[in-house]
Amino acid sequence: MRICVVGTGYVGLVTGACFAEFGVDVTCVDTDATRIASLRDGRVPFHEPGLEELVAKNLRENRLHFTTSHAEAIASSLVVFIAVGTPPLPDGSADLSYVREVARSVAEHLNGYKVVVTKSTVPAGTGATIRGIIEETLAARRARGEKPPPFTVASNPEFLREGSAIEDFMRPNRVVIGAEDEQAVAILQDLYSPLYLVETPFVVTDVVTAELIKYASNAFLAVKISFINEIANLAEEIGADVHHVARGMGLDQRIGPKFLHPGPGYGGSCFPKDTRALARIARGAGTSAEIVDAAIRVNERQMDRVMTKIRRALGGELAGRRIAVLGLSFKPNTDDTRESSAMEICRLLMDAGAKVRAHDPAAAVPAKAELPTLDVVADPYACAEGAEIVILATEWNQYRKLDLERLRGLMARAAFLDLRNVYDADAMGAAGFAYEGVGRGGRIGA
Ligand code: NAD
Repeated sequence: MRICVVGTGYVGLVTGACFAEFGVDVTCVDTDATRIASLRDGRVPFHEPGLEELVAKNLRENRLHFTTSHAEAIASSLVVFIAVGTPPLPDGSADLSYVREVARSVAEHLNGYKVVVTKSTVPAGTGATIRGIIEETLAARRARGEKPPPFTVASNPEFLREGSAIEDFMRPNRVVIGAEDEQAVAILQDLYSPLYLVETPFVVTDVVTAELIKYASNAFLAVKISFINEIANLAEEIGADVHHVARGMGLDQRIGPKFLHPGPGYGGSCFPKDTRALARIARGAGTSAEIVDAAIRVNERQMDRVMTKIRRALGGELAGRRIAVLGLSFKPNTDDTRESSAMEICRLLMDAGAKVRAHDPAAAVPAKAELPTLDVVADPYACAEGAEIVILATEWNQYRKLDLERLRGLMARAAFLDLRNVYDADAMGAAGFAYEGVGRGGRIGA
């Protein structure tokens, strides 16, 4: 089978490379010519473990192709995956302009029956919008005397996590297929047939339901994070340890241990935008999403709490203070800084006049692109030199076993704000640090 994937970002490129690994002939198309040129040379323009090797292997074996030509990619494919971005608009709704552009392009190049599948996260109802756009363009082709072929629209939302995207694609918890007809379901099931060997559950439903499954899943995870952050804040006030609370809760199989890690609030390219979009969709549909709205509010307030902790630790004044931030990506093992809490901390500190120096094992380049005046250094110890406080913002493995004596020796004042609860409070105290985590007692400053 020949397919194409439109958009070669985190989702599109992983999808393309993994389907090629399944033995499918895949053409990836992107409007970004620089990106396509580097991919043709086997260079992946972002950090995702194992992806460069997978792309190189499938390029070598001639199952993976890269182009900037939609005509070439679409015309030769039975299935067209749409994997372009759906970034947030200022009002919180998803920007569907890239998706619409692809729909128009598909209609222009439709030369035989095709299944048009959204992998991008799109509001419920977008499948119908895509169908409408394609039909409109085809009507114009018909008016020119052409006889355009049939097509069908499907939804196949992606649940991969950056940092473990290949494993998540190859061994997903489930595959969701929303389709208008049985032929499309059969084609998509055939594409995913290698996953039957690992007994992956399939959820086959209609398009609008599949679209909602994606938003509901992300919103639920965001709610879980905001929930434990609220419990962490309460634990701080009453002298409880949220780590034990989360473990005690998570061992209940009805709750589960995942996403019960308190921190600076969720960030990244998905949760913030998808929660806001779901809330908008609910309001637009004349209903409400009060729990999701609350999760969003709690998440925003969590950043205020982080800033209060930093101010308190430094005696109130931030202007001119030397602060070290470890980690800039929104989570470990990715260079994605979109809506990263760590980046927001740097931005707020710099706005308050602090002298911020940061380190990240992979995200230095995107971080500098986003915040050009941020001082990003290549080594965590150089980052801490002369600092009055170290803030551990993203829990990269590299920060789990820092040489504490060396770190303390470099700093102007040994204070450590651990926003990911990586370190043990007693051990940090014994190492000579004023230490504070999230929801675990311990406080730096009055
Ligand atoms: P991204 O921003 O990394 O990549 C999008 C790519 O699409 C870019 O390379 C861009 O140049 C390209 N593009 C835009 N318009 C195009 C067009 N008309 N033709 C061809 N290429 C075009 O995005 P991403 O993070 O991969 O996310 C894509 C979608 O998947 C979003 O809807 C996102 O919400 C969803 N999603 C993302 C993740 C994730 O972890 N990043 C996980 C699940 C779902």
